Amino acid sequence: MAIHEKTLIDPDRLITSDSLVVDGVDVSGHWNTMILPRTLRDYDDGFEDHLKQYSGAENVHRCWQCGSCTNSCTMYAQNTDFNPRYWIYLTRLGLTEEILKDKEIIWQCVSCNKCTNICPKDVRPEGVMKALAHWIEAEGHGAKSNSTVFDEEFARQCLVRGRIEDSEVMSNFYKLSQQDIKEMALHGWLGIFVARMNKWNELRHGHVFRFLARTPIMHSLHMGWSMIFKPKTKSWGRTGEVLSQYVKEQKELAHG
Ligand code: SF4
Ligand code: SF4
Repeated sequence: MAIHEKTLIDPDRLITSDSLVVDGVDVSGHWNTMILPRTLRDYDDGFEDHLKQYSGAENVHRCWQCGSCTNSCTMYAQNTDFNPRYWIYLTRLGLTEEILKDKEIIWQCVSCNKCTNICPKDVRPEGVMKALAHWIEAEGHGAKSNSTVFDEEFARQCLVRGRIEDSEVMSNFYKLSQQDIKEMALHGWLGIFVARMNKWNELRHGHVFRFLARTPIMHSLHMGWSMIFKPKTKSWGRTGEVLSQYVKEQKELAHG
């Protein structure tokens, strides 16, 4: 497995002679570029197998480094530092410290699956990107993302009550992810969203009945009621316990 991208090689390991003739052939400049070897000692021999415990990385060992995933990647087209082939290469070598240098961009995979469609070895690189992002979070190498905070709150309510309450999911999500809901309502997207949903323009132009007809009053009352009384799915108790136990066991199994 070789690194092809010159940008990924430390500049001081690239040796180029400005003027060189070999057997009468002028190979001056980049034609004679050589790469100094380096010795790696800080690798984790078991990392590839460890990552396979995370959903999506099961086929990472199949990669033969053709580079088709990176060439077709939506994110690579935006930012050449986003390089699935390279991260798969590092995973196979167990170079976790090198992977963590890119932890701020690995999560940016948009799951378009172009890489997975084109991969000749069924590595499913999109899955590997997800597995790496989960590994970074689950093992404390980076902060918890907002999507994880949301998922956890969503799953918590499912397990406890067998159903979710939209408003409770949202309010707890904003609280746990330390987002200022008041600021978002007054000056951010939330205010715009609510205003559009309720057609406040109608009110501003004096169309009171049209405004009231479009306001989801019953829905809002229902949400308020659910926030206070927290309805549960019928006979959920034992089912919730069994599911919670199963989820706990699966997490232990996956992350050791
Ligand atoms: S396309 Fe598949 S085989 Fe080729 S480098 Fe990417 S993951 Fe590896
Ligand atoms: S799924 Fe992710 S890694 Fe694959 S091509 Fe799309 S953005 Fe790139």
